[in-house]
Amino acid sequence: MPVAVPLPTEDQIDRLPERAREVVEYRKSGLSLNHIQGCSLGCAYCIRHTYGLWDENQPRALMSDAQAVDKLVNHRYFQPHVTPIQVFNRATEPFLPRVRPHTYAVLEELDERELTNHVLIITRHQLKPDDVDRLNQLRHLKVTLLFTYSRIDHKEIEPYPSEVAAKSLKLMSAPLRRSYRTILYWRPLVPGLNDSDQHLSAAYELSKHADATVFTGLFYRDQITEYYKANGLPEPYENTARRKVVPETLERRVLEAFSTSAALFRKTSCAVSYVHNLPDYNGHYGIPELCDICPLSQLELCVSAHRVPTAEDIHWAASVLPEADALQVVDISKRATVVSGLATEQPRYFLQHTLGFQVHDERHPHHVNRHGRADIGWKETSA
Ligand code: SF4
Repeated sequence: MPVAVPLPTEDQIDRLPERAREVVEYRKSGLSLNHIQGCSLGCAYCIRHTYGLWDENQPRALMSDAQAVDKLVNHRYFQPHVTPIQVFNRATEPFLPRVRPHTYAVLEELDERELTNHVLIITRHQLKPDDVDRLNQLRHLKVTLLFTYSRIDHKEIEPYPSEVAAKSLKLMSAPLRRSYRTILYWRPLVPGLNDSDQHLSAAYELSKHADATVFTGLFYRDQITEYYKANGLPEPYENTARRKVVPETLERRVLEAFSTSAALFRKTSCAVSYVHNLPDYNGHYGIPELCDICPLSQLELCVSAHRVPTAEDIHWAASVLPEADALQVVDISKRATVVSGLATEQPRYFLQHTLGFQVHDERHPHHVNRHGRADIGWKETSA
């Protein structure tokens, strides 16, 4: 497989922040592979801030693609045909010219193994007709391209224009026959920056090209706030938040702007599952207030897949994970199971994807009507 970016010395790898060295990491929408790190696009709200990787503005590889794929498929969290995979969604842009060969090397290696897992690729880069052909050659993986689009015109917040992502989305969605799917990943929506009526109607027009649309807010954590402050950027919120921020009034306006859309989703996994005609792999159907905008055919799919696990099922699923030894099942309802005893979020995502059912941590309760959302901009509602 080609190595288009340089491999660092062991010494250089040892100096990386601990979380950056973890090239396989479970995130909510899937098991994420990140052996290429560094990006030149410079979006101010980039998740790289939270991994101590902001200063890495040129991509470099921590290992070869073959080693990375081996690490992924042999990881204790990886289940063939089940675990959703995300490629390069944490530390680089998968279609930067120097990263692109690695993206294809990973996809082709996984596809050769005849794996049918979901693969999510999030991009805002320019794609070319050759990308249609290359992706169409994949036979087994369920590939979804998610085009990040915000139309934030503030160049210091988002130096790389959203227009590029819009063009790529149109190009990649145009072929009548294609084996991959496309999603307009409309984010981050930030009050005052990109939520005018014109912004909303432009997003709606663009959504007509995509197989589905997801809208989400901004991760506004401490490291990102510091960056905004240090660079004199306008701060959209007074407080930071563990979850993404989508204020209530903005959500209402988005739903109005998309009232004639047949495929608008609040959750990434819902849209990804929908475009492949499958029930949501995160089991969000248990949280019915998320489903009120979902197409009827999709609701039916999710209803038929919804099965509330027993405590035994949950312990059985967790039994393969040493880090889940102290797991306690605190509660089980139709909405979700609540657990305690997990030190990190990663095993919780493993359980959620294994069971296809929501698994919540007792320490981070979800509130009715704002599942997975930060409290900022929402009136008090009971849990
Ligand atoms: S029915 Fe609910 S859980 Fe299923 S895809 Fe739609 S919004 Fe998601």
